[in-house]
Amino acid sequence: MAGRKLTVVISQSPGKNPVKRQLEEEIATRLMLAGTAEVSVVPHLYDLTADHTGMLWLKSLRGNLVVLGWLYPRAIRWVLDRNGVKGKEGESRLNLVEDAEADDEHPEEEAPALRGIGSLDVPNRLIYAIDLRNDASPQTYLTEIQRLSDLVSTPLVQLGSFGSAPSPLSILPTNNQVAEPPAREEPAKTMSGLDLHSLMNGHSTEAAPPTVIDGADVRRRWYPVIDYSRCTNCMECIDFCLFGVYGVDHSDRILVEEQDNCKKGCPACSRVCPVNAIIFPEHKTPGIAGADGGPVEDFKIDLSKLFGAPTALEMAVLERDTELVADGREAVGAAIGLPKRQTDQAEKPRDDLDDLMDGLDALDL
Ligand code: SF4
Ligand code: SF4
Repeated sequence: MAGRKLTVVISQSPGKNPVKRQLEEEIATRLMLAGTAEVSVVPHLYDLTADHTGMLWLKSLRGNLVVLGWLYPRAIRWVLDRNGVKGKEGESRLNLVEDAEADDEHPEEEAPALRGIGSLDVPNRLIYAIDLRNDASPQTYLTEIQRLSDLVSTPLVQLGSFGSAPSPLSILPTNNQVAEPPAREEPAKTMSGLDLHSLMNGHSTEAAPPTVIDGADVRRRWYPVIDYSRCTNCMECIDFCLFGVYGVDHSDRILVEEQDNCKKGCPACSRVCPVNAIIFPEHKTPGIAGADGGPVEDFKIDLSKLFGAPTALEMAVLERDTELVADGREAVGAAIGLPKRQTDQAEKPRDDLDDLMDGLDALDL
């Protein structure tokens, strides 16, 4: 296993923001020239379907992974897991910075213990998910990747996954169709907006170029992602959603079965989940998009504790009704899909405090 390089995947921004493209390019190019990592570039992870070449490529990768993308690390991790790209959670210092800031704001509060049902069939390797919104400087990521590269090649922390046979389950497509991963020797070499050849101008051409998966055929998507480190399998989401998005697997575990049945822009079920396990990675509210803690999430929890006001639940009911009506169906209010304890709360008459909370929520603090 000596000499095996760390594998780094850069998940591109879904738009064509030139600043984001430049950051992606600089990281890819400098990693390539440094020669310390095997680099791949794939389209925006969240938008990839299970049978897209980009996802098949990810499934074909072995060993420890660093995945950089324009999403919160929780979102990256559980999008990958849902698609069979599994691994143990690797801790990046870049993510710890965010956590430490949250701790500083609430030094007396300990992080809640996670008692979720967890992921299944997790192979013995690490996946480091890093949010590219952490810092605008490529050097920040290069430094961290170098540190991780040194770390995983040290026997004390090496998990032994480099070069070892993968868990068969880790490469099975989630739709149970047998799919061949793309051959690693013949990767796609095109990427919209990226010109590696010009970036390499004046540099050694001996460096192996990154594998680049074309994203021209990728369309934007919107669907919930379950964080199984939090999910307790309570089934409140499947009861609440009236659009057939959720299902259960052969072990009666909740899963997002029909992703594309979800209604674009609607995050209703994330407000119903008692443990904040449902992530909508593209939602503008960090607590819904997968941020760990943070002011918005804490603020909402604090207000609910103080006043017992079920604002989030009321909003969920309203959002669901809006989508039902848009579908030509009848609004159901709180009459369907809510556990009794929540139904009681949802039917309480609104008061000034409810209006205040809705107003604050709308401000997206
Ligand atoms: S509501 Fe949340 S905790 Fe319950 S099954 Fe759904 S995702 Fe899991
Ligand atoms: S947001 Fe609405 S449509 Fe989408 S999964 Fe949740 S409840 Fe169902």
